[in-house]
Amino acid sequence: MNSYWHESVAGSKIDRDSLNKNIDVDIAIVGAGFSGLWTAYYLKQLQPDARIAILEANQVGFGASGRNGGWCSGFLPMTLSEIAKQSGRQAAVDIYRESFATLDEIERVIHHEQIDCDYHRGGTIQGATNSVQCKRITDEVKTMHDYGFDESDSRLLSSAETRTRISIPDLMAAAYTPHCAAIHPAKLVTALAKVVENNNVKIYERSHVNEINSRQIKLKDAIVRAEVVVRATEGFTSRIKHHRRTLAPLYSYMVATEPLTKSQREQIGWQNRETYHDARNMIIYVQITKDGRIAFGGRGAPYHFASRVKPEYDMHHRIHQQIIASMYEIFPITKNLKITHRWGGPLGVPRNWRPSVNFDPRSGLASLGGYVGDGVAATNLAARTLAHLISGDDHRLTKLAWVNHPSRKWEVEPMRYFGINGLLKLSSSMDRHEQATGEVDKLRSKILDIFI
Ligand SMILES: Cc1cc2nc3c(=O)[nH]c(=O)nc-3n(C[C@H](O)[C@H](O)[C@H](O)COP(=O)(O)OP(=O)(O)OC[C@H]3O[C@@H](n4cnc5c(N)ncnc54)[C@H](O)[C@@H]3O)c2cc1C
Repeated sequence: MNSYWHESVAGSKIDRDSLNKNIDVDIAIVGAGFSGLWTAYYLKQLQPDARIAILEANQVGFGASGRNGGWCSGFLPMTLSEIAKQSGRQAAVDIYRESFATLDEIERVIHHEQIDCDYHRGGTIQGATNSVQCKRITDEVKTMHDYGFDESDSRLLSSAETRTRISIPDLMAAAYTPHCAAIHPAKLVTALAKVVENNNVKIYERSHVNEINSRQIKLKDAIVRAEVVVRATEGFTSRIKHHRRTLAPLYSYMVATEPLTKSQREQIGWQNRETYHDARNMIIYVQITKDGRIAFGGRGAPYHFASRVKPEYDMHHRIHQQIIASMYEIFPITKNLKITHRWGGPLGVPRNWRPSVNFDPRSGLASLGGYVGDGVAATNLAARTLAHLISGDDHRLTKLAWVNHPSRKWEVEPMRYFGINGLLKLSSSMDRHEQATGEVDKLRSKILDIFI
């Protein structure tokens, strides 16, 4: 894997201990990505004397946290209407307001802890290149306003304003939200690990956890006893005993170009580093890095039978070629640029496609995740919530709709394989249909709604 982020972060290669003897701690966290590290960070704020250990199978930031698109977005992977249907209108508004405010919190910590992670809150532009996408973005802005959010949260851009922000051919319409920042994810996750270590949290690397039980974790050569055990393993969860069907690993892939020249940057505009996506069904996501590279990602890779996660899956020639083709279409200028990096990784998808934060004080078992590829900011909110739940205080975050709302397990194979891959194919075919006809395929859309 040749991730631009890992390659461009200085000092990431700290040689940490592995765990090869039994230990007793108060709180043990499995996984040193954003979820695990933010959880440790906030637990230490609430319980400074707690003995906390993090067990990481590889190294800090090895998972999605070190290799994502760097969109630190206040938008959750479930819509306001979906949350309202399950938990009521006010619950939907509450969690979205907290999620938007999470960017202020991340910004506060970055300043307070003096973390340099190329953070820039330029917002997000969502483009539309056919009439179905135009209607989709108009409807999304309208839904936000129906729920009491206003133009300062989400609005349509005039074509004149769009042109002043970014130059993209064939854009028919665009919407804007300020609730997103572009970050360098590997810099953030690496720095966060150092911050928690300075707060006396012990991180063990190359320490793969085989089994998680109430108040006990089993590794190959060690047992960890803890009052509370937190699972923060996202796309790799299927490798833990009894968790094969908890989260399905779906892969997302990225490429990065060499930096744009000054004149190319002038042609394309994009001075405020807004993140960019469009309203197709099969998600694409783009940011311009601090040093002026286009980092372009996309989903849609096939799911691997039995939720397998293997290092060789981190690269996917066909999907990388598709991502490059989409990038050339949206930013023709990139045809003149070298593609310097290609990489990918697994994200965690629960059966109901909604993240959750879970804690059972009787067993001491806790978990957070299932962000479906939208976890950079959500991990912070989930971790703060979990830290309050574990600390047993009556904080407002512990009332949010995703608390103790775990999804049911995925179907057994081969149903899971055919179901997930069928939905992925359906999404891509809908995009082709919408682009060719300018119309929604109602039947396919209905099928997708039923299963997602
Ligand atoms: C290519 C890609 C692009 C993405 N782009 C974005 C984006 O732009 N914006 C956004 O919001 N989200 C994005 N995401 C998703 C986002 O990165 C994740 O939701 C988020 O990083 C999840 O953090 P985490 O700590 O829960 O999981 P991870 O970062 O995956 O961390 C889990 C950690 O647990 C460790 N682990 C797993 N199993 C074990 C075990 N048995 N024993 C010990 N350790 C274990 C892993 O090694 C890993 O380090 C993207 C994901 C990918 C893959």
